[in-house]
Amino acid sequence: MIFIYSFLIFFLGVCLGSFANVCIYRLPKNKQIVSGRSFCPKCKKKINWYDNLPLISFIILNSKCRNCKRIISSRYFIVELITGISFLLIYSNFENLNTIIFLSILSLILIIIFFIDLENFIIPDSLNFTIMGLALLKNFLPNFNTSLIHEINQSIIGGMVGYSSIWLIIFLYKTFKKIDGMGLGDAKLMAGIGLLFGWQSIPFVLFVSAILGLIFVLPSLSNKQKNMRSEIPFGPFIIVACLIYFAQGDLLYSLILV
Ligand SMILES: [Zn+2]
Repeated sequence: MIFIYSFLIFFLGVCLGSFANVCIYRLPKNKQIVSGRSFCPKCKKKINWYDNLPLISFIILNSKCRNCKRIISSRYFIVELITGISFLLIYSNFENLNTIIFLSILSLILIIIFFIDLENFIIPDSLNFTIMGLALLKNFLPNFNTSLIHEINQSIIGGMVGYSSIWLIIFLYKTFKKIDGMGLGDAKLMAGIGLLFGWQSIPFVLFVSAILGLIFVLPSLSNKQKNMRSEIPFGPFIIVACLIYFAQGDLLYSLILV
């Protein structure tokens, strides 16, 4: 029985991952999400339902459009798989229904932000505000048993600290280096993280995401493909750092303090 439930949860995740793919493609272009059938981004031909099955169609079609034979981005497959796995992990690690639903919605939105920022270097306000709204809502959910902050004042202080930390970095960069290192989208995302985890999480998330960013940029810096002025999407690093904080935050903190 547990196996069947787990499979159903994974399947639900994969289907919502497919919806996430639609958002990742359409939100930065300001297109409507709900209406309109799916179409091939290359040849614009409408995709039949049997070619639009999550995970399966990508494998059957060998990652090529049936009509124009051009390559379909592997991002479609990756997003569906990651969402399915996230839902399964949340379902198997938490018992309270509120918590499971909350974390599943949160993970879905973070996955959408991750890939939109990676491809377009922007984070739509609508998504950042949804994270903030959810983060405030969780303070009022009963039996919410996670390491997330669960007190409205702490949450709001966290949001303000999160926003101003990135705002300060942007301000300092502009003043001293005359460049735009990050955008306000990153600041709003960090506000959402502060609202979720409290101000205590901000130093950790900033530090880890900066390290991740450096690891990502260093190889291309040495190849001279990029210089320090090149734009890099910072949102994905913030999200990964936030995930590490959520999963292992207490453990890592105790390691740093030792
Ligand atoms: Zn096509």
